[in-house]
Amino acid sequence: MRKKVVAGNWKMNSTIDEAKKLTSEVVGILSKEKQNDAVVVLCPPYPYLGMTRRDIGDSQISVGAQNCHEADSGAYTGEVSTTMVKGMGAEYVIIGHSERREYFNESDELLAKKVSKVLAADLIPIFCCGESLEIRESGNHLDFVKQQLTQGIFHLNATEMEKLIIAYEPIWAIGTGKTASSDQAQEMHKELRDHLATKFGDEIAEQTPILYGGSVKPANAVEIFGQPDVDGGLVGGASLNSRDFADIVKAI
Ligand code: PEP
Repeated sequence: MRKKVVAGNWKMNSTIDEAKKLTSEVVGILSKEKQNDAVVVLCPPYPYLGMTRRDIGDSQISVGAQNCHEADSGAYTGEVSTTMVKGMGAEYVIIGHSERREYFNESDELLAKKVSKVLAADLIPIFCCGESLEIRESGNHLDFVKQQLTQGIFHLNATEMEKLIIAYEPIWAIGTGKTASSDQAQEMHKELRDHLATKFGDEIAEQTPILYGGSVKPANAVEIFGQPDVDGGLVGGASLNSRDFADIVKAI
């Protein structure tokens, strides 16, 4: 059985008080209502990582960082290393979110280094991929996203690959209210799993969680998560509302 995962990406949102409130509400609701074994990850902004980890206490929720630098340490003003996020209690790191690729010019080559660095720190990368609307409309989306995997993670060995989580996030569906249809999501996820199998073999491809991201909400989560190759979600906007986020977790 593949692991099911729901990760909330808070992006650069929330004051410290809002972050505390959100965490305590999510913990409270899920401790009463969650009945599945989905792994739940909260990815707050860096300054709240340690606080969020402490506020979660001993409930079964993990913390993840939204990014990290590819070097161990050094003169990189404003950057944050894997050791730092791990020291704050993070277990996961989102790598290659489309906002990092687009606004911070993160290339496939750089992301390949980051993925390796995250794994070397014994953290779990949530590796994001996904196409723009232009690429989707050109009909080249399957090849484009497979190429992102080839460039970003095909240098890993089997032991490393066993730890990785993939998040397919069509850029045209992120924060837009548009979602990929469940058929579109399934088509891409299956294609990505088959692509993983060509490099890492069927067993690893079968056990790699592939999450969907892009305007996931309680109203569409059941249908999307019901697809055979969709193993959960990476949730942006709806993760800032405790009720919505908890309902998405319950939709697994
Ligand atoms: C995201 O940014 O990872 C995301 C999926 O955002 P949203 O859910 O708001 O579309």
